[in-house]
Amino acid sequence: MKDKLKKLFAYYKPYRFLFYSDMFFAVMGAAVTLVIPLIVRYITSEVVYYEAADARRVIFYLGVLLIFLVLVEFGCNYYISYFGHVMGAKMEADMRSDIFGHYQKLTFAFYDNQKVGHLLSRITSDLFDISELLHHGPEDVLISVIKIVGSFVILMNINAKLTVTAFAFVPLMVAFAVYYNMKMKQAFARNRARIADINSQIEDSLAGIRVVKSFANEKEELKKFNKGNHNFLEAKKDSYKYMGMYNSGLTALTTLVTVGVLIAGGIFLTTGGVNAPDLITFLLYINNFTEPVKKLVNSAEQFQNGYTGFERFLEILSIAPDISDKPDAVSMENMQGDIEFKNVSFHYEDNEEKVLNHINLKVRAGEYMALVGPSGVGKTTLCSLIPRFYDVSEGELLIDGVDVRDMKLNDLRNNVGIVQQDVYLFAGTIMENIRYGKSEATDEEVVLAAKNANAHEFIMSFPDGYDTDIGQRGVKLSGGQKQRLSIARVFLKNPPILIFDEATSALDNESEKVVQKSLESLAKDRTTFVIAHRLTTIRNAQKILVLTEEGIAEQGTHEELLAKKGIYESLYFSGEERK
Ligand code: ADP
Ligand code: MG
Repeated sequence: MKDKLKKLFAYYKPYRFLFYSDMFFAVMGAAVTLVIPLIVRYITSEVVYYEAADARRVIFYLGVLLIFLVLVEFGCNYYISYFGHVMGAKMEADMRSDIFGHYQKLTFAFYDNQKVGHLLSRITSDLFDISELLHHGPEDVLISVIKIVGSFVILMNINAKLTVTAFAFVPLMVAFAVYYNMKMKQAFARNRARIADINSQIEDSLAGIRVVKSFANEKEELKKFNKGNHNFLEAKKDSYKYMGMYNSGLTALTTLVTVGVLIAGGIFLTTGGVNAPDLITFLLYINNFTEPVKKLVNSAEQFQNGYTGFERFLEILSIAPDISDKPDAVSMENMQGDIEFKNVSFHYEDNEEKVLNHINLKVRAGEYMALVGPSGVGKTTLCSLIPRFYDVSEGELLIDGVDVRDMKLNDLRNNVGIVQQDVYLFAGTIMENIRYGKSEATDEEVVLAAKNANAHEFIMSFPDGYDTDIGQRGVKLSGGQKQRLSIARVFLKNPPILIFDEATSALDNESEKVVQKSLESLAKDRTTFVIAHRLTTIRNAQKILVLTEEGIAEQGTHEELLAKKGIYESLYFSGEERK
């Protein structure tokens, strides 16, 4: 806990000035609040006995002083409310940037086991809780303690018996506030869970709206939705019950303190135990020790939420990216593209069973190599080792004779281009999406890349050309068009090594031909790994590798492998190729 708190405090460091000034104005505001009733008491108990003219003069000056103090109190409260929140928001922004930056560094092995929604909530709701704590926590505690202790000390000096009577209610208020605050927060947590259910249901149903409609299941979807909707409503009703109890209960208790002080004070008045001005002063102080009780209880709760959020935040930050640069990593700027798998075995982190078993494979720079085999044998896995999306479990993977683990990761990845079956395009224009391949590319370079990828023509057929907004995930483009954009992106990147992972599998025959042409021109003079589901598309490969559960079963050219009459031949003629 000490370590974690240290990390929490570290976020205050850049905003030391804001923090200390916030604390300063918090103390000053609280002090002024405590002083105001004392001046009123002075007027009612002393000044009224002065000679009329003197009294008027003193009351005038004291009135001016009171107005000045009210202004100071206002200034302090405004400062801590505005700059305090700004400080919290700045720290929240720093944390958000830290966690997003860390997300960017984490590896595939991490993302394989995470839900995006989960990661999102760490950035949004958790950080909000933390920032509230960071800002309000110290300030609220400080103000509340000063007000409660200050009121107690001042009132004890005025009238000990009445003070004890008034403060007798405090434990009752604390107990009430703690209990209902807890109930209320639990109910809010249930609310959040229910609304999260609803949101994921909406997301799922709308993302799959085409399926919903094709099965004519709109009514069922609504029925399912209304169940979640009803649960949320019930949860909300529950939380309002506790919220109502908490708010009105505490208001009633505060009034009860006033009534208690009035009754006890009234009795003491008759016995001479207290005088009228002191009783008035007591009444003026009641809010100064009842309000802070609520605040303190709330702070404790806030600390719990914020701290749990911070722990979750640290949990993510403490995950070290398992693939990163060695201290003495080698620069690889002019890669040739000679690739060698030396006795490579691999298994995924969550599964001890090996996907790749002692693979030995040499591909010379510029070679066009195809990888075939039934689905699930590890073709994609094998290719994902090249850009180090995962590290080999055993053996070595060399490029130009250097182990990929010894290279600068950025250099390695800048030298490998990947075209996959699923194309991911970012929100934005076509121009921006192609430029993703090389951020400093000029417009001319982007256009050239698009021309090379056979994309220029269809891009120009849109009214806005390269400025066409493709919408979230590129829904306004056909599969073949999206694929050609992703190829243009790689053209622009211009890497010596390529991986085509079933790049045409999702396309119809017509688009497949166009995309195939783009891929072939991209592959020219580059080391290329092609994973193809239609074996007709790889007949020209210089080397074809047949991968099975046992490893590399056959390798050779199309003709050689057909002549062998082995697995490749049966795959080629059986239609197994369609998988
Ligand atoms: P292919 O591309 O030949 O169809 P893959 O390389 O995708 O095969 O998968 C090989 C095996 O590894 C499969 O059994 C698959 O379930 C498993 N696998 C693939 N990706 C992961 C992953 N991220 N985590 C764990 N297992 C995986
Ligand atoms: Mg695959």
